[in-house]
Amino acid sequence: MLPIDQIRKDFPILGRKIYDKYPLVYLDNAATTQKPRQVVEAMADEYYNVNANVHRGVHFLSQQATDLHEASRETVRRFLNARTASEIVFTRGTTESINLVASCFGQAFMKEGDEVILTEVEHHSNIVSWQLLQQRKGIKIRVIPITDDGLIRLDCVEALFNERTKIVSISHVSNVLGTVNPVREVIRIAHAHGVPVLVDGAQSTPHFPVDVQELDCDFFAFSGHKIYGPTGIGVLYGKEQWLDRLPPYMGGGEMIKTVSFERTTFNDLPYKFEAGTPDYVASTGLARALDYVSSIGFDAIEAHEQDLTAYALSRLSEILGMHIYGPTQTIGPDGQPDVSHRDAVISFQVGNIHHLDMGTLLDRLGIAVRTGHHCAEPLMRRLGIEGTCRASFALYNTREEVDALLAAILRIQQMF
Ligand code: PMP
Repeated sequence: MLPIDQIRKDFPILGRKIYDKYPLVYLDNAATTQKPRQVVEAMADEYYNVNANVHRGVHFLSQQATDLHEASRETVRRFLNARTASEIVFTRGTTESINLVASCFGQAFMKEGDEVILTEVEHHSNIVSWQLLQQRKGIKIRVIPITDDGLIRLDCVEALFNERTKIVSISHVSNVLGTVNPVREVIRIAHAHGVPVLVDGAQSTPHFPVDVQELDCDFFAFSGHKIYGPTGIGVLYGKEQWLDRLPPYMGGGEMIKTVSFERTTFNDLPYKFEAGTPDYVASTGLARALDYVSSIGFDAIEAHEQDLTAYALSRLSEILGMHIYGPTQTIGPDGQPDVSHRDAVISFQVGNIHHLDMGTLLDRLGIAVRTGHHCAEPLMRRLGIEGTCRASFALYNTREEVDALLAAILRIQQMF
């Protein structure tokens, strides 16, 4: 059991009253999570007491800031169980990590007519990055279809591979449906064809442990702000043998060894991919966020969030006209709650109440959810809808908040 009351005290924003209705019921965690004091205070402390540019300085503060930054990289390495810290590249977030791979891998290994395999549930960041490469190089995008429930059609994966397939890029967990994609199986199939796989872990890392060596993915991307860390920082993990073979992404300071107008040599991993001054304060914030999650432990976080998700699915299903997208079964064959296909995200639609109206009215009742296409327009098209209302949970949410959501939806329904 999570010590929820104690945990909520770490997040001062959760005590805010919105429109004087409830204390804030924040159910927009898939968009971004709130930050605990431990993260904000560590960052403030670094600005107040340590701040200096990293890597290039001989003076005390610069060395201390560098040590903190590199210690944060080691914390990320441990969090993902990467083999070495040189496989951990700091980026601005998942979006930048995916763009980096699409751009650099595309430049090095793809030519006109070569193919990337995506899925129908991808976030725009894992679609448009490849379309930019499509425009530059004439590559082709192939798409793994899903079932009406939003599950990846594993039976269709094999047939998408051919000699032109160069890379697979797939989300670990859908930000719309919460479905946990069978990335292990996809990686196994891809590797049997000698094809590397990028996993978009934006929605998995906050909810369950990821071991990149065990997964055997070739690249893995995630964002700090979705796992209780600061905005503006994220991670690209890449197997050393791949990162070594990719050209740099951006040019500038930090990423070089020597520069002349005739010839530049590039820095070692991971610095080859980190042009310019890194956000070394945000890396500290991210490390403290990962420490925070680790100190609570994923066993407890998963148990809590799965209980909340199952509870929310069953309570929301009581509402007349409620349509929940994605798999809705909550009880497995053993009679126990089974949310193995679904993480802490629930997209729904109530009767013919427009999702935007629903979201706006929920907001007036003090409940923050997200509405719209959730940066997944192709998935919306597949589901035959324009958008949904999405409630997404984090470790600080409670059953009482689910009850508040339910009561608010019922009230809104009466208004219509
Ligand atoms: N992929 C998925 C599955 C996401 O949910 C998100 C954020 N909504 C992203 C990528 C992009 O993350 P960011 O905006 O932090 O770069």
